[in-house]
Amino acid sequence: MIIVMRRGAPDAAVQQVVERLEAAGYGAHVSRGVETTIIGAIGAKDEDKPVLAQQLETLPHVDRVVPILRPYKLVSREANPEPPPIALGPEAAVGGTKLAVIAGPCAVETREQVLEAARAVKAAGACALRGGVVKPRTSPYEFTGLGHEGLAYLEEARAETGLPICSEVMNIGQIEWLAERLDVLQIGARNMTNFDLLREVGRVGKPVLLKRGFASTIEEWLKAAEYVATGGNLRIILCERGIRTFETALRNTLDVGAVFVAKRETHLPVIVDPSHASGHAAAVPPLALAGVAAGADGLLVEVHPHPGEARCDGPQSLTPEGFRDLMARVRAVAEAVGRTA
Ligand code: PEP
Ligand code: MN
Repeated sequence: MIIVMRRGAPDAAVQQVVERLEAAGYGAHVSRGVETTIIGAIGAKDEDKPVLAQQLETLPHVDRVVPILRPYKLVSREANPEPPPIALGPEAAVGGTKLAVIAGPCAVETREQVLEAARAVKAAGACALRGGVVKPRTSPYEFTGLGHEGLAYLEEARAETGLPICSEVMNIGQIEWLAERLDVLQIGARNMTNFDLLREVGRVGKPVLLKRGFASTIEEWLKAAEYVATGGNLRIILCERGIRTFETALRNTLDVGAVFVAKRETHLPVIVDPSHASGHAAAVPPLALAGVAAGADGLLVEVHPHPGEARCDGPQSLTPEGFRDLMARVRAVAEAVGRTA
């Protein structure tokens, strides 16, 4: 980090910063310019830096403290410039030239519903099946998922179609029974800042699909990924699912730029969820195509065999036909940006 002093800071103030740095185990390199003096802090442990930076900012005549390294290390692009794709199953991976499309209902509702959805998304070219068995609902009176029964249906769908299965984990207590049987653990937008949960899923040897919180900056999202990574698990898939802005026409605002930024900053694959970003089935295809055009490594799309009967997120769910049509258009855009689907 670099400590920038205010204009005209007296030598004693510079000396005080140097002494604070030395006391904390850093070396200090003082550079006196015509207008201002800057002090480079050299060495010491990364984890101490943020708090020391804050403390230094309180010293007299210190203007600001500028960090040099990013606040996320393990997931940063420098840490791994050419990461291999993340395997979801024997034939599915996220992060290569081939786009990964994970599709299925918002929630697992019945055995028939999930089997029908699985067959349809497989036939249309999805590489993995999604479906919530524990659902974070805004209202306590809404359907909160089938739990263990739903997981058994997902497993049956995997056995029949060969599609790996992805589902949300809402709390630490659920990790044990879900992690063992799922192929991908989803952390929902509402749990992106549940740091205990992030650490715990980082200790599980399964890919983690980490949604961006709808009120979180990209940097906060990447720090959340760093939490998962500190548990030893670097198989993290970032998912941009729309953020809350002043605009209310759609359910959320898809931050297409976040795909570019997250891919520039990290070595993690980034996928886009046009379903939760839009809230309307008709808006799903344009947002999905925009995500692919912007460089996303894949999509997460809600598909329901009968959206009109869905217990959760029906208005944004594509029908099997709608999903098949979308996949045809995704292939065209993928090809235009040098990828396959
Ligand atoms: C979901 O994928 O069904 C879901 C609840 O998404 P989010 O956490 O992005 O709202
Ligand atoms: Mn949903």
